[in-house]
Amino acid sequence: EEPIQPPKLSKSGEAAAEIKVTTKRQKNSSSEWTPSSWTTKPIKQEVVYNDLAKVQKALAKLEQLPPIVTPTEIIKLRKSLRDVALGKAFLLQGGDCAELFDYCEENAIESKIKLLLQMSLVLIWGANRPVVRIARMAGQYAKPRSSPTEMHEGNEIPSFRGDILNGYAVEDRTPDPARLVSAYYHSAATLNFIRASLASGIADLHSPLDWELGHVKDEKIRAQYTRIVDSITESLQFMRTVGADSSASGLETVDLYTSHEGLLLEYEQSLTRRLKHPPSHPAFLPARVSSDQQVNGHQESASDGKGWYNTSAHFLWIGDRTRQLTGAHVEYFRGLENPIGIKVGPTMTSPELIALLDVVNPPKDIGKVTLITRYGEHKIASLLPDHIEAVKESGHVVVWQCDPMHGNTKSTPSGVKTRQFSSILSEVSSALRIHREQSSFLGGVHLELTGDAVTECVGGSEGLTEGDLSVNYTTYCDPRLNEKQSLEMAFLVAGHYRD
Ligand code: PEP
Ligand code: MN
Repeated sequence: EEPIQPPKLSKSGEAAAEIKVTTKRQKNSSSEWTPSSWTTKPIKQEVVYNDLAKVQKALAKLEQLPPIVTPTEIIKLRKSLRDVALGKAFLLQGGDCAELFDYCEENAIESKIKLLLQMSLVLIWGANRPVVRIARMAGQYAKPRSSPTEMHEGNEIPSFRGDILNGYAVEDRTPDPARLVSAYYHSAATLNFIRASLASGIADLHSPLDWELGHVKDEKIRAQYTRIVDSITESLQFMRTVGADSSASGLETVDLYTSHEGLLLEYEQSLTRRLKHPPSHPAFLPARVSSDQQVNGHQESASDGKGWYNTSAHFLWIGDRTRQLTGAHVEYFRGLENPIGIKVGPTMTSPELIALLDVVNPPKDIGKVTLITRYGEHKIASLLPDHIEAVKESGHVVVWQCDPMHGNTKSTPSGVKTRQFSSILSEVSSALRIHREQSSFLGGVHLELTGDAVTECVGGSEGLTEGDLSVNYTTYCDPRLNEKQSLEMAFLVAGHYRD
């Protein structure tokens, strides 16, 4: 889809001109990076607030609040993604399309943690390697939209752009700067509960897991899934028997990282901090110190041992609508120490892709960038091979992640957005096969999912049909896999490795 300009909600053009002041717009046009250098570049999906004093107040508050995540955690994830890029681990990333502030609630958070954990166990079993888990959670509040407005009862109203910006209720569609601060608190509260749950044993593999396979109607498929669960259960039992489950074994808890699309740059900038690198940072590896001097935006890293960290999440990605090489989002992302993702849709050309990698990762750090491909089940075969070839030739070593959701969204005749389970599986299967054929490998998957029993995607072992969509269709943006469909996707991906 063509990127679009967002709505100018102010009646006069004045507010639009004024907003640039609030974000410390710079005159500098050189390559020097600062957390606000993005403001010198053209921006897609721009937000126009009409109360600038309120925006400034919100950003000042955000700048004062403590980091939500730390450099030590961020660099730990970056090291894990290096392993993924080298084929030593698999990446599972998943969560809601649009996270609402209302999802900051015990059950919703818990069910998502448990689902991601179960899926990761299945994938560990299948791919026979560790799984890195990243939740689209604790901050996934900003949504790019293909149209700035939509029709509601015959009136054109602004589209819902995520809880960080405006509200879904028709009367809340004007961007509200107070939501920026609210996003921080909801993000922090969500991550606090994730951390507390993990520390209290939610992911403790000593306790039995509930796999619930009763819904799988096809007996052959159920037998196949049951075999996988039995195999996982037996392995855990074996570890207990040989005493490999002692307190240092890592069976008590797991790492779960957070992520969101870095879309609302005012928010991201306010949480971007110059902080001390942990000792594990690549800048401290002997080979890197001398080359650090020439790297854009990282000029000072060798000298003062610090770098710019986005402390709002461990991992951020650039959306398919905001990935313009000379645009604001790419400018912002190129200065970050965090591992980052770039959505790669059907309009991405290979030269553009390599130019992007060169801009955001000049030192070619392995696994620093995750390419999140989302072509669609019918386009992947004609697009992915060239991208793999071009990246190989460029010398960049990336994490190749398949997002089988966003190229496969359809509307039913009655206008309900949905996705076919079989189309999602088809794109993942093609990704696995194409990477294998090109002597590359698929590093991970990126899924829109929820731990609840929603009816938003059709197909899967429950046999959900278009007629079932109305039963529990609760997404405020894209259709998500429900708990059973998600787990089934993990079984099927795992099966590919074992076949
Ligand atoms: C998303 O991940 O929800 C999204 C908007 O994806 P994309 O940028 O790939 O369209
Ligand atoms: Mn989405």
